[in-house]
Amino acid sequence: MTQALFRALPAVDACLNALEASEPALVAATPRPLLRALVNRFLDGCRAAIREGRLTDPIRLSPEVLLPGLAAFAAREGAPRFRRVLNATGVVIHTNMGRSVLPAEAVEAVLNACRGYSNLELNLATGERGSRYSHVEDLLCTLTGAEAALVVNNNAAAVLITMDALCAGGEVVVARGQLVEIGGSFRIPDVMERSGAALREVGCTNRVHPQDYEKAINEHTVALMRVHTSNYRIVGFHSDVSVAELAEIAHRYGLPLIEDLGSGSFLDFSANGLPGEPTVRSVVAAGADVVTFSGDKVLGGPQAGIIVGKKAIIEAIKRNPLNRALRIDKMTLAALEATLRLYLDEETARRRVPTAAMMSAAPETLRRRASRLASRLRAACRERADICLVPGESRVGGGSFPENALPTTLVAVTPREGGAERLKRRLLATVPPLIGRLENHAFLLDPRTLADEEIPLAARVVREALETEDGGNAAMPPIAGL
Ligand SMILES: *Cc1c(COP(=O)(O)O)cnc(C)c1O
Repeated sequence: MTQALFRALPAVDACLNALEASEPALVAATPRPLLRALVNRFLDGCRAAIREGRLTDPIRLSPEVLLPGLAAFAAREGAPRFRRVLNATGVVIHTNMGRSVLPAEAVEAVLNACRGYSNLELNLATGERGSRYSHVEDLLCTLTGAEAALVVNNNAAAVLITMDALCAGGEVVVARGQLVEIGGSFRIPDVMERSGAALREVGCTNRVHPQDYEKAINEHTVALMRVHTSNYRIVGFHSDVSVAELAEIAHRYGLPLIEDLGSGSFLDFSANGLPGEPTVRSVVAAGADVVTFSGDKVLGGPQAGIIVGKKAIIEAIKRNPLNRALRIDKMTLAALEATLRLYLDEETARRRVPTAAMMSAAPETLRRRASRLASRLRAACRERADICLVPGESRVGGGSFPENALPTTLVAVTPREGGAERLKRRLLATVPPLIGRLENHAFLLDPRTLADEEIPLAARVVREALETEDGGNAAMPPIAGL
């Protein structure tokens, strides 16, 4: 019997030919050797199922049953791993989902930069070699009030190269309460120490005073450092030394003040219920000599580490050998320049930079978008789920504004069968996947992080997830769905 089942299995080439006839789009989108390997894996799965007695009915090896299973397997396993997802969590800067969504202008600029050659390091005024940084330095100086600027791969790199250039071999005085972990168990003090600087910690976890810094300064001190603890807040008995006060102390001793701003914003979001984040310009104006911040957190641009500050210091950082290792690529540069240009006009930035627009979306706008999403979902899901609107909260994310919740209107989907948890799991396997939240047995979608154009797509994948049978999970062994 088992032998008969083994013999009934089709040959690899027969499977490939059958796929070609029935699934031309899949075959066109999947490189041939990959498709062949997937067919082999699928057939191996069948053989294992036969051996282990899980597959005993020859009907399941007939082309009518086998082919759809094979096609679904190949589509799932052969698709690119890095894909688009729909973010319905309401967390605007979600590191797991790529942080900021780029403005349309930045996307266009990336396409232009990489479709053909560019003047990345070509000075068009002279025809000689130019500098890639010249494309954004003036913009950054205009937007922050700084004398000079440099951009590297990300903010962790910005901290590393700044300290390597200014502090290697010396002591840097920093408040104990500011030595933060930034997620993925990366710790700012570890990055700092890689530069070869020794950290001289002062103050207590909750309080640090001007005299703590002054007492720690000695002949080995090369800089004072402040880390903006944007991802947590101390409430209660707490004190800090302001940028202006610390700059005054640093300059009195002839030392530079370095500020790692983390998020770094060009806009003030206090009117949107997000107070307390200093703008980059205000930190530069308060006297910090070097300020580092991320391109893809509150700024809403591509992943980048932006360093602005005094000309002599930025020149020293530019000459540091790490600059070559940490330099940004042309696509990032294109996206960053386009994003920064939007910030030249504040109102334009609030409208056109998706991160800024999502952070400042008006409650009425969110309610309207939630209503549209709810009616789409009701039409798509019919009697499979109950859909209602509930008030809720969104978060900025990315370690920014940790204690500020933004009011929103959520769409709650309560499946009539199978439960919200199963719906959430199935939505990981739709094309595109949709990520939302679970609360009180409902699956919640927050319209804050969904674009208007994504609403029909969101409704379609939720319907698909409510309709699918189980077994669509890519992590499952082949044949499990048969
Ligand atoms: C996020 C953060 C960083 C790291 O920035 P990346 O751009 O993710 O490398 C460094 N310092 C602080 C304070 C941060 O919040």
